[in-house]
Amino acid sequence: NTTHFGYQQVPTADKVKLVRGVFDSVAGRYDLMNDLMSLGVHRLWKRIAISLSLVRSGEHVLDLAGGTGDLTALFEQRVGDSGKVVLADINAEMLKKGRNRMIDKGLAGNVHYAQVNAECLPFADNSFDCVCIGFGLRNVTDKAAALRSMHRVLKPGGRLIVLEFSKPTDQLTEAVYDFYSFNILPKIGKLVANDEASYRYLAESIRMHPDQSTLKQMMQEAGFERCDYFNMTQGIVAVHRGYKI
Ligand code: SAM
Repeated sequence: NTTHFGYQQVPTADKVKLVRGVFDSVAGRYDLMNDLMSLGVHRLWKRIAISLSLVRSGEHVLDLAGGTGDLTALFEQRVGDSGKVVLADINAEMLKKGRNRMIDKGLAGNVHYAQVNAECLPFADNSFDCVCIGFGLRNVTDKAAALRSMHRVLKPGGRLIVLEFSKPTDQLTEAVYDFYSFNILPKIGKLVANDEASYRYLAESIRMHPDQSTLKQMMQEAGFERCDYFNMTQGIVAVHRGYKI
């Protein structure tokens, strides 16, 4: 099976292993690479996602696929001392980096850590006011199972926020973005992290990810209501939001 870019599609059984390898490999340079690849704009995308989450003081938040904890740090400021943020990721290396960063920022108090697979969350039903998955869903093999699991752990009235690369809204942006992702991005990966293959995987995984309306439909099928999405940077990134009613 090949994708529309001619890359070999990874059999489902091997995808977990592949994703683990990619994030083991990129963990050390992850934050630097995010800044370089997006020219710092990922910080703005994350801030917008946080404001769309409507998270308030005292709430409980799950930052799923939280990696090195950028979103956790922003949520922590919002929930305050009476709230709680769980930084959860499947990858021990990314989680370890995230934990060290949160301790360095002095955010150890109400941040908790969990090594979890988004497809089968080990939390009780109705535990969180908000679940956020930032640049993580495209790496998950069974996205429908993951969305159902996120729905289960949300309290009634809780929100799901999916921050993810999406489909550019116009052809010029798409052409420039394709050229950048497949010609420039892997070279930056090679130069800075000595890892061209991982960044090629990242570019390809973005193209394979469902577009805005498909993801909205998948959220509805998982039980979410009042689903909507917000395009950023001409649809290169989108925030999807849905409620558990
Ligand atoms: N949310 C962070 C951010 O925005 O900077 C990190 C995003 S990073 C691109 C994707 C993360 O998803 C990685 O840390 C990876 O380990 C995690 N991940 C991949 N598959 C996962 C799964 N099935 N369950 C939980 N986390 C997963």
